[in-house]
Amino acid sequence: MPQKIIIVGGGIIGAMAAYRLTQQGANVTVVDAGHARATDASFSWINASFFTDDAYFRLRTEGITAFGRLGNTLDVPVTSHGSIVWEDEGPAFDRQLHRLNRLGADVRVIDGQAITALESAIMQPPERAMFFPSEIAVDSTALVTSLLAAASAAGARMLSGVFVQGVTQTGDRVTGITTSVGAIPADQVIVATGVGTQVLLAGIGLSLPMLKRPGLMMRTRPIAQTIRHIIASPTQEFRQLPNGAILAPVSAGHQADTSSEIMRPPDVLADAAIIRLRAMLPDADLEWDQVMLADRPMPQDGLPAVGAIGPAGLYVATMHSGITLAAIMGELIMTEVLDGVSAKSADLLAAYRPKRFGV
Ligand SMILES: Cc1cc2nc3c(=O)[nH]c(=O)nc-3n(C[C@H](O)[C@H](O)[C@H](O)COP(=O)(O)OP(=O)(O)OC[C@H]3O[C@@H](n4cnc5c(N)ncnc54)[C@H](O)[C@@H]3O)c2cc1C
Repeated sequence: MPQKIIIVGGGIIGAMAAYRLTQQGANVTVVDAGHARATDASFSWINASFFTDDAYFRLRTEGITAFGRLGNTLDVPVTSHGSIVWEDEGPAFDRQLHRLNRLGADVRVIDGQAITALESAIMQPPERAMFFPSEIAVDSTALVTSLLAAASAAGARMLSGVFVQGVTQTGDRVTGITTSVGAIPADQVIVATGVGTQVLLAGIGLSLPMLKRPGLMMRTRPIAQTIRHIIASPTQEFRQLPNGAILAPVSAGHQADTSSEIMRPPDVLADAAIIRLRAMLPDADLEWDQVMLADRPMPQDGLPAVGAIGPAGLYVATMHSGITLAAIMGELIMTEVLDGVSAKSADLLAAYRPKRFGV
C-alpha cells in the first residue's frame, strides 16, 4: 500500500476514490481548489441506456450495479427510480431496442397507457417508450458531501481552497504535489480534477487532450410533486427534485450534445426549454428559477481516461458520465492503487486507458 496518497479534486470521482481507499485503511489527503464542479451542475442520471459501443454499455451497467453495492455501506441519496425514454422514434427506436436486448439490458417497452399510469401529468404520451427500471438519479452534491464525510471519519484529511500547480517527481517516481501554499510530499497522486486535468498534466509534459463541452442545467421554481421517473423525450429530458423543482438540461438530448460553445444567452435557452416542458406538462405552473453553466470533463474521444500515467505513482481518472461511473470507478481506482491491475479492472478499463492518446 502507498504510504501517503494525495487525491487532487473533490468532485464525485475524487470523493468516491477517497471513500473506497479510506475504507481499506489507506492514508489519504484530498486537495481541492474549490473551483466550480461539474458534479454540482449535473443531471446525475445513472444510466446505461445512453452508450456508444458494447464495452461502454457494459461499463455503464457495472456502474449501476456498483451503486447498489455502495448502498450497502453508505446512504445513497437516490431521488428518482426508473427512466422512461423515447428519445428515438420509429426505426431508430427499434434499432436501439434490438441493440439493448442483444446486450441483455434491463429494459421493457411500455405503451402510452402504461406511460400515463406511471406519469399521469405527461400530456400526449408517445405510443411507446423504453422503461429502464434499474436506472436512478441521485443528488450528486449531497452524495459527495456524504462520501467526503465518511472518508474524513475514516482518517482522510481535506485541504480545501488549495490549488494544485503541479506534480513533483524524482527520476521516474512521483514525490508529491506543488500547491499555491507550498509543496506536499506523497508517494501516490491521483488526479481527479475534471476539466482541470489537461492543464495539470501538461505541467509535467503529459498530454491528455480534452474537449470543450459546456452544458446548461435549469431548475424551475418548485411545483407540487408530479414526476417520479427520469424522463427523456425527443424534445426534453427532465426529472423532479425532492423540493419540487424540475431539473432539466436546456439542450434536448444533452448526453449526445457535441456543441463546443453555448451559442445563445442562457436565459433565452431556458425560456425555450420552459416552453418545451410546458407542452409536456400543461397543468404545471412552470417558471425557471436558476440556470447553471458547467463544462463536462470529456477526453477527446468522449470516453473516460482512467489509469496509471507518466511517472510511477501517478494515476488519472477523468470522464463524462462521471456520475453513472463514479461508484465503479471508486472500486477500480482503489484496487489498482492499492493492489495493482486486477483481472476485473484490466477487463473493464481496457478501452479507457490514457495511453490511447499516446501519453
Ligand atoms: C450539464 C451537465 C450534465 C451532466 N449530466 C450527467 C448525467 O446525467 N449523468 C452522468 O453520469 N454524468 C453527467 N454529467 C457528467 C458528470 O457530472 C461529470 O462527469 C462528473 O461530475 C465529473 O466529476 P469529477 O469529480 O471528475 O469533476 P468535478 O465535479 O468537476 O470536480 C473536479 C474538482 O477538481 C478540483 N480541481 C480542478 N483542478 C484543480 C487543481 N489544479 N487543484 C486542486 N483542485 C482542482 C475542482 O475544484 C473540483 O472540485 C453531466 C455534466 C454536466 C456539466
